[in-house]
This record gives sequence, structure tokens and C-alpha cells, in this order.
Amino acid sequence: MRVRLWSREIWRVLWLSALGCVLGAIVGSAGFGLALGLAACLGYHLYQLRALYRWLTLHPHDEPPAAVGLWGELFDRLYRYQKGQRITQNRLRATLGRIQESSEAMRDSVVMLDSHGDLEWWNSAAAKMLGLKTAQDRGQHITNLLRDPRFVGYFNARDYGEPLTLASPIDERRILQYQITLYGDDERLVMARDITRLHRLEQMRRDFVANVSHELRTPLTVLAGYLETYSDLAEQLPPRLGRSIGQMQAQTTRMQNLVDDLLLLSRLEIDQGGDDHAPIDIDALLHKVADDARALAKEQHDIHLVLGSNAQLMGSEQELRSAISNLAFNAVRYTPEDSQITLHWVCDAQGAYIVVEDDGDGIDPVHIPRLTERFYRVDKGRSTATGGTGLGLAIVKHVLLRHDAQLEIDSHPGKGHVFAVTSL
Ligand code: ADP
Repeated sequence: MRVRLWSREIWRVLWLSALGCVLGAIVGSAGFGLALGLAACLGYHLYQLRALYRWLTLHPHDEPPAAVGLWGELFDRLYRYQKGQRITQNRLRATLGRIQESSEAMRDSVVMLDSHGDLEWWNSAAAKMLGLKTAQDRGQHITNLLRDPRFVGYFNARDYGEPLTLASPIDERRILQYQITLYGDDERLVMARDITRLHRLEQMRRDFVANVSHELRTPLTVLAGYLETYSDLAEQLPPRLGRSIGQMQAQTTRMQNLVDDLLLLSRLEIDQGGDDHAPIDIDALLHKVADDARALAKEQHDIHLVLGSNAQLMGSEQELRSAISNLAFNAVRYTPEDSQITLHWVCDAQGAYIVVEDDGDGIDPVHIPRLTERFYRVDKGRSTATGGTGLGLAIVKHVLLRHDAQLEIDSHPGKGHVFAVTSL
């Protein structure tokens, strides 16, 4: 069809030129006749071109001008294409409208950013929560409006696996949780949720645990003091009473350990940390931890040190010592006699590692994801018998969080464990 229309158009030019030639020859000038024929062709095409131009510029939504042949086909095709585009556009506009309506209905803030991080669109919740003003703020970079250095760091780091919790930029009393999602061509969607109520509840829980633990400290110290006095007199007491006093002493010590661990955890959660950070001599620290672990093991385990680096780490020596001691003491308490326990200190291009390795019975991998939860124990009886509070690995996790480090646990039944502290 297309070829036929095209050849018909060529025939039309040839025919008009030939007719011009013949008529020109009759009146004595074939050349003039040919020029006249070609001018007629040109005039026809110019006329159609003008019609096309007027249609597209003045009435693009109206029916196309009437035409035959190639021009008619061109007009029809353009009209059909335009109509298709208009339908797609309307459909897209309706979808966009629905998306905007549903985002408007959301109670969470939604802010769409372009690939440069400039504001493109936001819902009314974002206007209220983040104080965005439509006219002035569109096209501004997000970090010009949310200037908290923690948000700027989070935004630029491009690692959005975990949300960021911050006070609202317009109301200090409101706590917002930001989550950024990358989509499309490096565009970003910033969502913010008001978690003030949840935050307050969490704060109340922490304060409650810290206060109760604190209040329990004094009565427990008094109890422990009296029990010690009575145990000194145990020989003068009837044997049954002597045994009870021994048991009461053991339980009081357990409660004291529990209260101490709960207080330590509360402190790690409440206070931001970082004030006492200084370079730590890890070699010396591991020597101290190994000595403490040997004292606990009472020569029933072999404890080795493999120190492969003399680098120093920035951090709180007291907190890191408590974390690594927890790992080393667990290795002593949960492995049978004559087990080998090794503390490694390694530094390479990927980072720094403190590894506590033992060749005990190993833990079934199903427990590993939950080991750092408070009071999670693989074998409750064994943990209690060895004096465990169930909070040791939770403390380790919190200390490491404050040092930008991670705890990696690798353990298989029958093959021992590796508890590694990684710092980048
Ligand atoms: P606990 O005070 O009970 O030791 P932790 O949080 O320190 O609490 O440890 C949680 C659980 O992880 C322990 O109860 C124990 O079952 C297991 N665990 C920790 N370290 C080891 C280890 N080196 N070998 C075997 N099991 C371990």
C-alpha cells in the first residue's frame, strides 16, 4: 500500500511534467511547459504542507484536513498516532492522580526526589511533618531542607538497609523514622513516619528496667552482706540451715549479676557513648581478657593468643573489654574440659577482626540468629548452672553497635564456634 501510494505520487509528477511538455510543445516552448508542470506539482505539495502546518499548530485536536493519496495517508496516520498518544496520556494522568490521591491519604510523609536529590513532589503529611512549602521548596536539594548532619550522612551514604530515627526538623518533641528507597533512574523516595508514641513507650520501658534494677541493688547488697556473715558462722549452725544459706548466697549472686547486666544494658541503650573513645592497644587488652578467662577456667581449658597485628582501635576500652570478655567467658563456660580456646587479632585490607574461637560442641545454626536476643539461651539449664544471665551476647551486640562494629557467629554442631568482632 505504502509503495503503491509512493509510486502513484511519482507518476503524478511524471504525468504533470509530460503534460506540461506536450502543451508547451504545442505553443512552441516545451521547456516552459515542463516548468509549468513542475510548478503545479510544487504548488500542490506546498498547499498540503500549509494545511498540515495549520492543522498541527491551530487545531491539533480536530479532524485532519481532507486530502487524497500520500498526503491523505500521512494525515490519517498522524491523526491516529495523536489519538493513541492522547489516550495513553490520559490513562497515565489518571494513574498518577490515583497514586497522588493514595499518597495524600497516607499518614506517613512521602517525598519524591529526582536523581540529583532535588525535591519533585511530596504529600501533605510531608508538608506538616517536615515543614515543606510547595512554592519555595520544589527543586531544592533535600539536604538544604533537612539539615541535621545525621540525615545528611544517612542520605549521602546510600546504604538504606536500616531506617534513621531523628527529631522532626520543625518540632523537637516529635520523633520521626526516615526510610529511603532508591528506584528508577537513581531517583529516591523518602518516607518519614511519626513514631513519637512508640519512642515514648520504649523510653518508659528502658527507664523502668533501669530504675527497677537500680532499686534492687541496695536490698541485694544488704542481703548478700548478711548471708556472708551467716556463712562465716555456718559451722555453728545446723547442717540443713548451712546448706540453705549456701544456696541463698548463690541465688543472691545470680540476682546481683543479673541486675548489673541489666544496668549495663540500660546504660548502653540510653547514653549515646563516644565520650571516652580513645586509641586502644588491642594486644594488651586481649592479654588481660585471656588472663581473666584462664582464672575462670581454673586450668581446665587451654587458652591461646594469636596476635597478628599491633594496630590500635578507637573506642571505649572498658566497653570493648566487657564485650570480648563475655565472648571469652562463654567459650570457657560452654565448652567441655580440655577444650582449646583461641583469641585472634587480625587486620587486613577489609578491616580489623577480633576472633574468639573454641572447639566445643558447637551450636545448631537455627539458634544463631536469635543468640543476641535478651535471655535467649540454647540450653537454659546449662546457662543457669554456669552462672549465665542470658544477657551476655545482648551486651556484646550493643557495645559493638556503638563502635560501628559487628558480631559474626559461625558455629556448627561438633565443630566448635567462631565469634568474630569485625570493625571496618
Ligand atoms: P548466657 O548468660 O546464658 O551465657 P549469652 O547471651 O552470653 O547468655 O549467650 C546466649 C547463649 O548462647 C548461651 O546461653 C549459650 O547457650 C550460647 N553460647 C554462647 N556462647 C557459646 C559458646 N562459646 N559455645 C556454646 N554456646 C554458646
